[in-house]
Amino acid sequence: MRRVVYPGSFDPVTNGHLDLIVRAARLHDEVFVVVGANLAKEGLFSVDERLAMLREVTRGQPNVRVDKFRGLLVEFCQTHHISAIVKGLRAVSDFEYEMEMAQMNYRLAEIETLFMTANPLYAFLRSSLVKEIARYGGDVSSLVPAPVFAQLQKRLAAG
Ligand code: ADP
Repeated sequence: MRRVVYPGSFDPVTNGHLDLIVRAARLHDEVFVVVGANLAKEGLFSVDERLAMLREVTRGQPNVRVDKFRGLLVEFCQTHHISAIVKGLRAVSDFEYEMEMAQMNYRLAEIETLFMTANPLYAFLRSSLVKEIARYGGDVSSLVPAPVFAQLQKRLAAG
């Protein structure tokens, strides 16, 4: 079985992430979308809230599973018999860091990394920018899935 993992912070999941998930799911038997739960610093959404949003927006994708991981991603891969990590590349600026991580993960556990180029429609999208625009009242309704937009509005209204 061709099983891959797509890791990230997904705080929250954007249309750019979702585009990549759907494309990766077409190419592989199973895609594990995993939220890294290592960071001590709180995001706008808790890890459980991020997981709930990811589950909701991937409900129509039968071969997508949503989970979280702590510790090393390569250990998650080994435990779940996953042989490759999928990463999205938006711009050259993503490349240097991703290349280093890819080589380290291969060195640690012979886990491959597969890079997919971002859909040009979403190449400018990152969660932190979406949150910043939303915080200042900008319209992000076309940048995130509808349930995420609703959660963003609720969270930001609550202060
Ligand atoms: P962000 O940078 O949005 O905070 P994450 O840390 O959650 O995102 O990113 C997880 C993965 O998704 C990374 O491989 C990142 O390159 C990829 N990614 C993020 N946004 C996009 C996008 N708009 N299109 C394609 N891939 C993306």
